Amino acid sequence: MELHGVGVGRGVAVGPVLTMPDPLPEPAEQQHGGDAAAERAKVDEAIAAAAADLTERAGRAEGAGREVIEAAIQMAQDPMLADDIAARIEAGTTGERAVFEAFRSFQEQLTALGGYMAERATDLGDVSQRIIAQLRGVPVPGVPDSPHPFILLARDLAPADTALLDLTKVLGLITRDGGPTSHTAILARAKSIPAIVGVGADAVVAEGTRVVLDAAAGLVTIDPSDELVADAERRIAERAAMADAPITDGALADGTTVPLLANLGSPAEAAGAVELGAEGVGLFRTEFLFLDSATAPSVEAQQEQYTELLKHFPKKKVVVRALDAGADKPLSFLNDAHEENPALGLRGLRALRAKEDILRDQLQALKNAQDATDADLWVMAPMVADADETAYFVELGKSLGLRTVGVMAEVPSLAVVADQVLEIADFVSIGTNDLTQYTLAADRMLGTVASYQDPWHPAVLRLVKLLGDAGAASGKSVGICGEAASDPQLAVVLVGLGATTLSMTPAALADVRAELATVTLEQARARAAAALAAGNAAGARAAAASA
Ligand code: PEP
Ligand code: MG
Repeated sequence: MELHGVGVGRGVAVGPVLTMPDPLPEPAEQQHGGDAAAERAKVDEAIAAAAADLTERAGRAEGAGREVIEAAIQMAQDPMLADDIAARIEAGTTGERAVFEAFRSFQEQLTALGGYMAERATDLGDVSQRIIAQLRGVPVPGVPDSPHPFILLARDLAPADTALLDLTKVLGLITRDGGPTSHTAILARAKSIPAIVGVGADAVVAEGTRVVLDAAAGLVTIDPSDELVADAERRIAERAAMADAPITDGALADGTTVPLLANLGSPAEAAGAVELGAEGVGLFRTEFLFLDSATAPSVEAQQEQYTELLKHFPKKKVVVRALDAGADKPLSFLNDAHEENPALGLRGLRALRAKEDILRDQLQALKNAQDATDADLWVMAPMVADADETAYFVELGKSLGLRTVGVMAEVPSLAVVADQVLEIADFVSIGTNDLTQYTLAADRMLGTVASYQDPWHPAVLRLVKLLGDAGAASGKSVGICGEAASDPQLAVVLVGLGATTLSMTPAALADVRAELATVTLEQARARAAAALAAGNAAGARAAAASA
């Protein structure tokens, strides 16, 4: 039997499947019917059992993982929380609901404090779910704990789940929900975990069944034959050997240079990217630094982070994006209104314009970092619609002393007027994740429309061509910084369409470097032409492969 989904990266994995239980639904607002003492005793027992389970896990974990679990044990046994739970039960609330409400109230207090305390709020949610699972006698939600390596099947993973995955245990990832550019997919790619997303809401695999996960084919084979397992193991060994290939600058077979840059979300990732051969940074997602902040970061706090980043890239290009708040990455200090369709709302540059003080502070911090280092800093705005918005951002950036100022091409309208935009901007960087989402009107977070979220679609490629042509006519740089650049075959097509640089998660650099070296510019252009003429995404893929 097989499961089909969208592959993330090119990896292969073989192993038994373990399923991550879905989060528990919120306990109903019910009364316990009188016996408060009995209800309290049940809760005390559940807390003790959850703490014992966590203590056992802490004993097996190491380093940061152990510290996180030890902090969770303390939270589970916090006397203030115990008092709050007891008071709620005395007032008639059921044990489950009392645990839920007491933890939620504590979580809200921590979130309001911001920073480190707010980060701990997420962990509190996990502890509360563990206690409620004990009370209900159901499996504890979250990544299963196993002494053996396994392939994880989940509805979807929260970014925190993905970030904490134990890579010595999780060989691969299959999600029922989520598209190829959901943050689960982005983090999986960053951690080089072979993954397939969007296999469908009703996908089930019996616990412990062996599967072969082939990300390049978007295919999970359940109970594979011995031949298939042997073939997968050979491919795993080949990929491991390729990771040791020498690192060179990005170039086509005819010597045409294609600088290969890194997509980063924090200065801490810079050293790893340099090690993998990143020739600079093509996208620094500044909003990732401040997802937990309740208030706008100061110029000084930002300057410190940007300077630290730039110091890793002396004389190299570093493209920093202004805060892209909204939709799946809300920042409480920039997006405070409820929107029915946040991806189509006050996002990116629109949100920054509405709070120009915050934008000015960020650009000032970047200017200070530019002056403090010898990196070649480029600054760009997200979610820009046209030449007017481009002029606004470029003029503001230049007036504050930034040297190189450009825009992202994510909204299709910007690609349509690319010639006008490039008269004003110093450069354009194409965000293929959003460009695909908006061109095909398919929410990138939604598993049900994951099949539309395919940057191979000729409509997306034609917009890239408009931008590439405008770049060639103006002599300005048109880079790619969406996930599309990390697909080696598509990377070649994008270069054929006029992309001058490719930026991706550092883990993808080796595959893309190797593929680019196999084609000339003429061949890349031929593949691009074939893909543009196709009728759909699958057709474009096939046409490029046989061109
Ligand atoms: C994009 O949209 O392609 C992009 C690079 O930005 P993000 O994924 O952060 O929205
Ligand atoms: Mg984007």
